[in-house]
Amino acid sequence: MRKFLLLFACLLISSTTVFAQNDPFSYPLRTLIIDAGHGGEDPGATTAWSFAGGTVYERDINLDIAKRLHALLAVSHPELQIIMTRDDDTYLTLPERCAVAYKTVLQPLSSSLFLSIHVNSASSEQASGFEILTKQQDKRVTLLDPNTPIQNIPLFSANSQLTLNRLLNQRNLVVASIFEQTMSEALITSKSRGVKERDLWVLNQSRMPAVLVEVGFLSNEEDARNLVTPQYRQRLAQILADSVEACM
Ligand SMILES: [Zn+2]
Repeated sequence: MRKFLLLFACLLISSTTVFAQNDPFSYPLRTLIIDAGHGGEDPGATTAWSFAGGTVYERDINLDIAKRLHALLAVSHPELQIIMTRDDDTYLTLPERCAVAYKTVLQPLSSSLFLSIHVNSASSEQASGFEILTKQQDKRVTLLDPNTPIQNIPLFSANSQLTLNRLLNQRNLVVASIFEQTMSEALITSKSRGVKERDLWVLNQSRMPAVLVEVGFLSNEEDARNLVTPQYRQRLAQILADSVEACM
């Protein structure tokens, strides 16, 4: 009996090791796609605030935080390949944003992360705080098809699409929790609205672990007063950089 148990334990350990080796999302994070939401003709949320001297546009806040985040990580993690879906005020369709992600060539035995930055808005001025959106678990993602860069094929070819989707869901939840926890600890005056699963194009179609961070509400005066100051946006960028680092 003891021999049988020992054999069983050995089999379990070896299968776990093989499992981890074949999980393409468990490799060190070496590629980050920063997606500043909206842009150009698509302003995202807009709210007029007298303290801001007029209308505040979500697209501008997203881009500013994205640029600050890029600058911080480029210095602290030069080994990280950082790609911006947009680095100016241009309009990109959702499929174009996702294509930037899944057409990026990844380093061998490395993983990637798609981080979309947004500002929230609600009909109630009381709604405030930040939240982390992640893919709905029942949405299937195609990780291997003719659009997959040839260099990325070895990362995904060891598993079935079903297994890849299960592993992707697992990783998404881990990443979303890391972001939520890091932001909760740093933004003590801002309310965490938690991690939420959402059926959103950029989360489903990026073909890599993906989170969408709503950093605050433009429709809430206190959040908006913070978001219009460069100091607060720099702080948010630093917290997002810390969150990315915690995923590495
Ligand atoms: Zn948005």
